[in-house]
Parts: sequence; C-alpha cells; structure tokens
Amino acid sequence: MSKPQVEPLEYDYNALEPYIDEQTMRVHHDKHYATYVSKYNDAVAGTEMENKPLDEVLAKECAMVPADKKTAVRNNGGGAHNHVHFWEMMAPHGKGGGGEPVGELAKAIKSTFGSFDAFKKQFAEAATGRFGSGWAWLVAEGKSIKITSTPNQDSPIMFGQMPLLGLDVWEHAYYLKYQNKRPEYIEAFWNVVNWPYIDERYGRSQSGK
Ligand code: MN
Repeated sequence: MSKPQVEPLEYDYNALEPYIDEQTMRVHHDKHYATYVSKYNDAVAGTEMENKPLDEVLAKECAMVPADKKTAVRNNGGGAHNHVHFWEMMAPHGKGGGGEPVGELAKAIKSTFGSFDAFKKQFAEAATGRFGSGWAWLVAEGKSIKITSTPNQDSPIMFGQMPLLGLDVWEHAYYLKYQNKRPEYIEAFWNVVNWPYIDERYGRSQSGK
C-alpha cells in the first residue's frame, strides 16, 4: 500500500522545453527514476520495510535496514524519493514555473540569504561544487532554511532535514542537452522552479506536518 510506484508526470515530457528537453525527461523519468523505484521495491521485498512509508525508512534507515540491504535501500530509496519530489518541484515556465519565490518562503529566503539573487548564487555554487553525482538542496532544518548538497542519491531526510527545493546534478539530468555545461543547466532550471509548490512545502515544514 505504501510501496513507492512510478508516479506519472503532471505535465507533458516536452512541457519544460526549452530549459529541460523532452528526450532527457523521457529517459530520466521512464528509465532512471523507474529503475530506482523497482530496485528499491526489490530490496525491501519480504522485509519489515516493505509496508513502511519510504520517507520513514529513509529517516530511520540505520535502525531499520539490515546490513546487506543498506546500500540498495539508501541508493534506490533515496533515488525514488528525490525524484518523485523533483518532478513536482518543477512546472512549465509561465504555468507555475519560474519567476520568484512566493508567500512565506519568499520572506524566509530574503531574511536568510539577503535577497533572491544572493540565494540563487549560493544555490548555484552548491550545485556546481557538488563533485560527481548528487543534488543541491534548499532544506528546512527546524525553523531555519539552508542550502546543502548531497552525494549520490542521499536525501536530506536522512539527516533530519526536509527537502524544499532540489536540483538533480547527475549527468543523466542534463547531459543530452547541456553536455559538460552544468552551470548552463543550473541557470536554466530557475525558469521551471515551481515556487508555489516549494512555498507549500515550506509551510508544511514550519507547521510540523
Ligand atoms: Mn536523476
């Protein structure tokens, strides 16, 4: 019942063009993401994790996961969780995607980082500076927000943080269109960030839900 499933995109594969291309979205969603989900389900089959919510497994990973399953659960469970939110963290440009932060989140970004531009600069540095594969994040930690990055498919929820905005900087997320130019991909990403959704997540993080 709580088994992760491949959730369909809420927009067309080509809806994030020209910032993120259709072919990348097809391969990324239908192949990479789907593989994390199926490998996670294989890893937890027949264990007590099978019927636990994915975020609970990831948050309490150390206590719950047998040693021989740790790597598979961490990598594939993290991958499944990171991606399902990543699709929702984006929206077509002009249809929820792009522009500036809204609501209470806009105030928190201003008070924490000084300005939206200063926030973007720090976030881009985290995304550019992540060596190899991983993610850049805006997370809530208690009442605060901060920028972090994680290697591989590690999720902020493994570290007691709630991911608000995440950017996948694995090469599979951008290489077809941007090749080695990760900074251009990061710059393009701002055009499709679904700020109303990020603000909603921020609201949930502050109310403890
Ligand atoms: Mn990915």
